[in-house]
Amino acid sequence: VNRAKRTGRTEIYQSQIFALARRQFGIETELRRAIDTGRMMLHYQPICDLATGRVVSFEALARWRNEAGQEIPPSEFIPVAEESGLIVPLGRWAIEEAAKTLSLWDRGGEAAQGVKLAVNLSAIQLQRDDVPQLLQDTLSRYALGGDRITLELTESAIVSDPDRITKLMHALKEIGATLAMDDFGTGYSNLAYLQRLPIDVLKIDRSFVAGMLADRDKIAIVRAVLSLAQALGMATTAEGIETNELAQTLAALGCTYGQGFLYARPLAPNAAYQFLLDRNA
Ligand code: C2E
Ligand code: MG
Ligand code: MG
Ligand code: MG
Repeated sequence: VNRAKRTGRTEIYQSQIFALARRQFGIETELRRAIDTGRMMLHYQPICDLATGRVVSFEALARWRNEAGQEIPPSEFIPVAEESGLIVPLGRWAIEEAAKTLSLWDRGGEAAQGVKLAVNLSAIQLQRDDVPQLLQDTLSRYALGGDRITLELTESAIVSDPDRITKLMHALKEIGATLAMDDFGTGYSNLAYLQRLPIDVLKIDRSFVAGMLADRDKIAIVRAVLSLAQALGMATTAEGIETNELAQTLAALGCTYGQGFLYARPLAPNAAYQFLLDRNA
């Protein structure tokens, strides 16, 4: 009886793995096509100066509506893109798209001129592609300064190949880009990298920010990150700000920038540009 049970379970398990693999392969095939055919979009979420409320930048976030018309969230397709290597063309596309959007906004007048766009870089993309060269080429083609781009990296990028990543980050600084450590506090890494690497901004993960007003431990972590960043001369961005009270508390604690649904959800390019005009008027 035991054996039969075990065999049955193994079969169920295997069929689940096959179903998963099929689904994964389906996503992969369609994802490849989506990048080539313009089904992938970038939406832009404003990041505001907490002291003045002005928009200082937007984070570019990939949005994908598949051929069946469903929105597939990045939490689903980014891992597939990383496993399949598609993250390289996807990452290239995102830098191109962000630069194109910036140059379009610049043509609209003064409003966007000091505004940056932040692009997320996957650890895998950093390993497999020459991102500094790519960024330099793209910026030149659009006649944009390097100071218009922020690159968001995660701790996993640093852990994977510290020497290579150190050179790479210095090369990106050379171009003038701003470097932000994304999801700070959620990875497993040696904090020594903070003094070694040219990081400009720590992004405090939403998991610490969102519930912090009702949770002493979370607020303690947020305070600690803020004072760490201050001591190291880095700016800070709090993610996941959904209420005014949270924005005010973070501003009082000395956090530099804020991002979250309080200000806006990630917006289609035109809506983001309109948001910028309204907010910074
Ligand atoms: P992330 O870089 O940490 O981006 C912030 C995520 O938090 C976004 O989710 C954003 O929509 C969400 N968010 C912002 N404010 C709030 C809020 O107030 N409340 C809540 N509940 N959520 C908020 P999204 O767009 O689903 O992206 C998830 C992750 O996927 C990103 O996390 C990033 O790691 C990755 N990702 C998205 N686009 C790209 C891309 O173009 N390239 C790469 N490599 N990764 C990307
Ligand atoms: Mg990010
Ligand atoms: Mg983040
Ligand atoms: Mg995050």
